[in-house]
Amino acid sequence: MPKGRSFAAKLAHDISTEGKMICPKCNTEVKKVKIIRSKKSKAGSWMPKYEMISVCKCNEKDVMAGKV
Ligand SMILES: [Zn+2]
Repeated sequence: MPKGRSFAAKLAHDISTEGKMICPKCNTEVKKVKIIRSKKSKAGSWMPKYEMISVCKCNEKDVMAGKV
């Protein structure tokens, strides 16, 4: 595939994904992922804490490993 054509295909892709975020570092779509953290309350019981995080190639391995 000529280089120019792949660039055009990429542009079309970017237009079709309008509204989505593309990470400038890894050039992949940044997805919003809901994660649940267990947080211990002062009373000593575990409370689930919901959080939205942005995931792209830069941090997806860490997210999958539970580091984020
Ligand atoms: Zn990234």
